[in-house]
Amino acid sequence: SAMRGERIKKTKTVCTFCGVGCTFDVWTKGRHILKVDPQKESPANGISTCVKGKFGWDFVNSEERLTKPLIREGDYFREAEWEEAIQLVASKFKELKDQYGPDSMGFITSSKCTNEESYVMQKLARAVIGTNNVDNCSRYCQTPATMGLFRTVGYGGDAGSIEDIGNAGLVIIIGSNTAEAHPVLATRVKRAQKLNGQKLIVADLREHEMAARADLFIHPKPGTDLVWLSAITKYIIDQGWANESFLADKVNGFDLYAKSLKDFTLEYAEETTGIPQEQLIQIAKNIHESDGVCILWAMGVTQHMGGSDTSTAISNLLLVTGNYGRPAAGAYPLRGHNNVQGAGDFGSAPDSFPGYEKVYDDKARAKFEKAWGVKLTKEKGLNNHEMIESIHGGSLKAMYIKGEEMGLVDSNINVVHNAYEKLEFLVVQDIFFSRTAEYADVVLPACPSFEKEGTFTNTERRIQRLYQVFEPLGESKPDWEIITEIANRLGANWDYRHPSDIMDEAAMLSSIYAGVTYERLEGYKSLQWPVSKDGKDQPLLYLDGFHFPDGKARLHPVKWTIPLDFGEEYDIHVNNGRLLEHFHEGNLTYKSKGISEKTPSVFLEVSRELAAERGIKDGTLVRLTSPYGNVKVKCVITDRVKGKEVYLPMNDSDEGAINKLTSSFADKDTDTPAYKETQAKLEILKEE
Ligand code: SF4
Repeated sequence: SAMRGERIKKTKTVCTFCGVGCTFDVWTKGRHILKVDPQKESPANGISTCVKGKFGWDFVNSEERLTKPLIREGDYFREAEWEEAIQLVASKFKELKDQYGPDSMGFITSSKCTNEESYVMQKLARAVIGTNNVDNCSRYCQTPATMGLFRTVGYGGDAGSIEDIGNAGLVIIIGSNTAEAHPVLATRVKRAQKLNGQKLIVADLREHEMAARADLFIHPKPGTDLVWLSAITKYIIDQGWANESFLADKVNGFDLYAKSLKDFTLEYAEETTGIPQEQLIQIAKNIHESDGVCILWAMGVTQHMGGSDTSTAISNLLLVTGNYGRPAAGAYPLRGHNNVQGAGDFGSAPDSFPGYEKVYDDKARAKFEKAWGVKLTKEKGLNNHEMIESIHGGSLKAMYIKGEEMGLVDSNINVVHNAYEKLEFLVVQDIFFSRTAEYADVVLPACPSFEKEGTFTNTERRIQRLYQVFEPLGESKPDWEIITEIANRLGANWDYRHPSDIMDEAAMLSSIYAGVTYERLEGYKSLQWPVSKDGKDQPLLYLDGFHFPDGKARLHPVKWTIPLDFGEEYDIHVNNGRLLEHFHEGNLTYKSKGISEKTPSVFLEVSRELAAERGIKDGTLVRLTSPYGNVKVKCVITDRVKGKEVYLPMNDSDEGAINKLTSSFADKDTDTPAYKETQAKLEILKEE
């Protein structure tokens, strides 16, 4: 066989699917993957992985991989050599910059790519083009969580480690289908329930696996989490259960905050959220009586118009009860993609440099100007939501989108596609010909994680190295190399020969990564930021105070934003999220045969009540219509959803069904789309 003579090889890598950051050895022969073998020394997962990490890798060898640059010719693409493609991109960027100015261009970096690749992408935007228009897809999921933490405790990351979650007396999971979205982390909680008697409270619209396992499951009305969280916090204060010494020593703003809770009575919370007062009291009691409380949350919280405020309310509750700066406690926003945390850490945002220093902070800017040898703009750039608006407004003319399927995952997708059509120049860099690539002028073939080196940072701020398993397929190249070539063609003089050169530069400029070197991350070694110059890391944050100049946390009063009202006609609430077997929009996993055979197509989960009322059966074809678009989908009747709430998985291989329904409304503080505030009407269709 073709395999004869090829040596069996073992390579350490980091899983590229979710933010848990499982690591394992991949055994290969030639380009065949023999097995995925997690190790005892894997810090986040030990000897576990989930089905995606274990079997989700066929896509790397898919025949559909892009292997050569493509250049648009009218309605078609033709293959091109790298030289021509890079020259075209560079000359077009220069032309547009000269004609319309640097802010006419937008750069999207990827939370699936490495830290080093995020770093060079934002450096290309800032130092070479001269704009802060740079963002990444955590805008679609996690930015509100980060905002809530920045406001209250100062660092935009999980308070401790996954291990702390396992050691907590009480875990509260809000708006996260953890068993399917972060399987290995969910396993920790299941084990702790069994072995340590850990208590579990789950708040969700759907009775998913963790909900079924919970000691208490509550089902608040959509978009009301801030209300019950604030009511519980008020009740805790009123009962005298607040941690007074902690508040006195370590927290600012208590009096003002306590006053802001005045209206959040139990009666009001019951009326607004539908959760009985006894249950609210029970949650408050459990928090009061537990030794260490961890709160985990995800998109069920963040993807609302008040997503940042609800995240803030979670952090406020933890502060009032002293659940920060001690083991087995704290806030744990669960990062979706493998490198959501790292993309933010490395400056993939319109207002911050690597290390979260602000572009409008003169001192920070001076530091980066000196290191990069250029003058930088202090104007905050556009986030990806604003980029789409600015294309429609006429000021944004070109985009460079790396490793993001914006043409599927962005909300109100018809408006996004119309925007792409208006662009003068679009460069898409990916491993597959994506839905977004259909609008491109140039498509650049990149490499997946198995074909490059670099680092990822997982949900617990853990920085881990991945090693190259295979040579790049065809003529594809690692993203950092492609970006470096474009920058140099534009006159930059970057001399990165290996991702470690990029990390060395980033570590010099970013205080949270100061002591990070590739040597310190050798093999299965890892570091959790902040890492001081001497290489000492901090698995548990806030032991020596909070990340503010005076070392004190800040209670931050928030108001409830009433969810969007689309009118009576749109009487169905369309919830959306992930399936275990697929990952996000499915562009990697749908190409893995082993997985797509198991979960063939998308279906709509409908409650028994709604099915009875409308005469829906398993397999009935329905049309959902929102003010923004419509989709046809088959129904499956389930106990997992209730009443007029339906659930549409966001994994649709070809058309991104859910985002034909979603609006352009967004979290008011971060512009994260309010995916979870989607209403539609439902009609039954005849089978064709
Ligand atoms: Fe990969 Fe997440 Fe599964 Fe771990 S839990 S194997 S990181 S998808």
